[in-house]
Amino acid sequence: MGKKFVRAIFPGSFDPITNGHLDVINRGMKLFDELIIAVGRSPVKNQLFTPEERVEMIAELIHQRRMRGVSVESFDGLTVEYAAKKKADVILRGLRSLTDVQYEFQLAMTNRAVAGIETVFIMTSEQYGFTSSTLIREVASLGGDLSNLIPENIYNRLKQRLKKAKHEARNSKSETNTNGQNTKRKT
Ligand code: ADP
Repeated sequence: MGKKFVRAIFPGSFDPITNGHLDVINRGMKLFDELIIAVGRSPVKNQLFTPEERVEMIAELIHQRRMRGVSVESFDGLTVEYAAKKKADVILRGLRSLTDVQYEFQLAMTNRAVAGIETVFIMTSEQYGFTSSTLIREVASLGGDLSNLIPENIYNRLKQRLKKAKHEARNSKSETNTNGQNTKRKT
């Protein structure tokens, strides 16, 4: 009997993608024939990059690193519905620590109960065990060096975005006086 073709989706927020995610993707590439990185569009978290920007950044990495069998797209709604639409055999998720296990366990059980789809977990290498997109955004906003934790092009985009956000915040502050009234002159 021939080997079965296995297609996996790797869903997440990827806001932005980190070396931890990439570590899971690289390991996943050895297990699956096709791996679709699926950027969730649902606005559950405080997002820094739009889904389109996140897809664009990931596509750039796939291209730069010649990641064969890997693609990226965004999706709306339930992960299991998206998985069914893509005819995916499994959902891939990454694990960093025991804290992740509890949440991921529940999620995997629910997805299996509602859609009969299996979840495959890959543990990240120790060096990325503490890396999360949330932490990356916080450290970057305080000016910390993140060059070991995210790819260079993502780091540059992140710095640019935070600079723009700071600038916008400063501008909106100067347009509001201490009584909270807008002081910007109407033209
Ligand atoms: P979500 O909001 O769905 O958790 P994330 O983008 O935060 O989206 O994560 C997507 C997947 O990648 C999740 O399975 C998460 O546990 C995993 N992940 C995130 N960071 C790391 C990391 N440093 N190492 C391994 N897996 C990770």
